[in-house]
Amino acid sequence: MSHEEFPTQNPAVVTCGLPYANGDLHIGHLRTYVGGDIYSRSLRKLGQETAFVSGSDMHGTPVAVNAEKEGVTPEEFALRHHEKYQATFPRFNIDFDNYGHTHDETNTELTQEIVQTLEAEGYVYEKEIPVAYDPDADQWLPDRFVEGACPYCGAHARGDECDEGCGRHLEPGEIENPTSTLTGNPAEYRERQHKFFAVSDLQEYLQEFINRVEGTSNAQNQPREWIEGELQDWCITRDMDWGIDYPGEEGDDLVLYVWVDAPIEYISSTKQYSERVGSDVFDWEQAWKESGDIVHIIGRDIIQHHTVFWPAMLKGAGYTEPRAVMASGFITLNGKGFSTSRNRAVWADEYLDEGFHPDLLRYYLATNGGFQQDVDFSWSKFQERVNSELVGTVGNFLYRSMLFAYRNFEGTPDAEVSEEVEDRIQQAIDEFGAAINDYSIRESGNAAVRLAQFGNEYIQRNEPWKLTDEDPEAAAQVIRDCVQIAKAVAVIFQPVAPAKMQALWEQLGEEGLVADTDIDDALAAPPASFGEPEALFEKIEDERVEALNEKLAERVAATESESDESEEDADERMADDADLEPIAADRISFDEFQNLDLRVGEVLSAEGIDGADKLAKLTVDIGVEERQIVAGIKQLHDLSELPGKKVIIVANLEKAELFGTESNGMLLAAGDQADLLTTYDDATPGTKVQ
Ligand SMILES: [Zn+2]
Repeated sequence: MSHEEFPTQNPAVVTCGLPYANGDLHIGHLRTYVGGDIYSRSLRKLGQETAFVSGSDMHGTPVAVNAEKEGVTPEEFALRHHEKYQATFPRFNIDFDNYGHTHDETNTELTQEIVQTLEAEGYVYEKEIPVAYDPDADQWLPDRFVEGACPYCGAHARGDECDEGCGRHLEPGEIENPTSTLTGNPAEYRERQHKFFAVSDLQEYLQEFINRVEGTSNAQNQPREWIEGELQDWCITRDMDWGIDYPGEEGDDLVLYVWVDAPIEYISSTKQYSERVGSDVFDWEQAWKESGDIVHIIGRDIIQHHTVFWPAMLKGAGYTEPRAVMASGFITLNGKGFSTSRNRAVWADEYLDEGFHPDLLRYYLATNGGFQQDVDFSWSKFQERVNSELVGTVGNFLYRSMLFAYRNFEGTPDAEVSEEVEDRIQQAIDEFGAAINDYSIRESGNAAVRLAQFGNEYIQRNEPWKLTDEDPEAAAQVIRDCVQIAKAVAVIFQPVAPAKMQALWEQLGEEGLVADTDIDDALAAPPASFGEPEALFEKIEDERVEALNEKLAERVAATESESDESEEDADERMADDADLEPIAADRISFDEFQNLDLRVGEVLSAEGIDGADKLAKLTVDIGVEERQIVAGIKQLHDLSELPGKKVIIVANLEKAELFGTESNGMLLAAGDQADLLTTYDDATPGTKVQ
């Protein structure tokens, strides 16, 4: 089943993954919000009725943990961050129709109502499960209060997700060798009654859903393995005070798992919008219960929640399923992960305080790579894109053609647009529409930049400055065409650069807001007169970039030397590098060490595993035999360079299956960047490491 093209007759809802109310925003965080804002503005431009909503995610263990550290209530702690986010987004022209939070009344009521519906429909049951417990602290250890080993891949995992390994959502009781993050002591598993959502009952539905959901291909591919394998039911309650109470059970201390009420905020936020503007303007019930086109824009670390649990909940409770899920890649800073604890970040406020216009960053984030690709930010790359494309192509065309028009014609020359230019603008309109239907934010922005580039070629080719004396009519024609192209750029580029294009709109002598135009207005006649234009974009000078680079490097160095200060990033959802862990207090005996059979191996081949973000499949010669080993190194190494390299493997580790691929041994690597261990000299494959 394929969906009808945008614009449809249905109300659309564009949502952005909820920011977790637990820290400051850096420019990497902005990628999904800028993407969502551009996408919703673009849908409107196509004539699609659209609501753009999000809210802060207030619940969950990281908020509780950090609030306790600060000695404030979780609500106070989360609200402070919520208010900060609410103030920051508009500064980047991220213009939500409604921005709520998960702890407000609308979301609390709706969440309880949806859980009750799921219960009434028979999707909820009770089960006794082992829950981690810290006997010293006398406390249950939900989610981030416990760490240990992932039962699927063996990687170090925290709480409810295997964030450094296979990326799976982990259920309570699944983590192996659990340790309490409160005391650092080993945790016990104790039996406890909890509520479960029978996701497995909806497996058949989900298998069909995953085939029709649109968006970026990672959102379809990544969860396929889970949906086609054995689907686990989902524990939806936690032993905590902070959260939304499980409905109908007075006095019970269970709250709902944060991933139940967080996505419901998408609906609650739409509802608040409807209530504010009136359901004749936007009808949330039609969108969420009848015939909405729901588009979720998220980071790729939460694909599973949006393509398995969330659609299952919606289906079970009788709501509209998502039409599309667009999952963005990660963003790095100078080739390394952002790290809030090490201050290795360009903060959102800091970017603006440096005096850079928000639309420049919007352009960079939107068009530097495809939405699902990883993108690197550096001040130098930022400068390069701004100077060559925004200044050199777009700004240059707009300024030179409008200045020429103003000086020679005091505005738009009196002529009809030529067929060539009309066709070229129509082509850009078509490219824009196709890009949005293809969920490609980058291509929607590029459609406008390519049009400006055409404008530059057009003016260059026709040389109107030579024509003004000899053939004024021909000169008027060229400039008339150029003004039309400028107007078309204003309309088509507006979703990416809303403030800059509004300024252009006013320079063109247009009234009102370019945000209110339809895409076809790109071909409507511009006003006959306008004033002297001003350059819209300014070059970023080299000295500026050098200074910014130095500032960043100094700051990172300063934080790294303060080794005592290892504040934990309990919820850093971007790629992040870990702080150094303290050396384990417990010593092991030599015999225990001897139990590890470590061998030198030589990589024979290495390839990525389809559908897995991080995993690669390696064939390794260990002398006595060849081994197939799965390792989480896909994004960190150029796999084609690995064959021939010496590696160290744990040869007697029990076999595991990862993403349907057998892994017979483990590759040793250091740290988040998976720096591979190798030999200093030329030990032959199979040599024992001791
Ligand atoms: Zn794992």
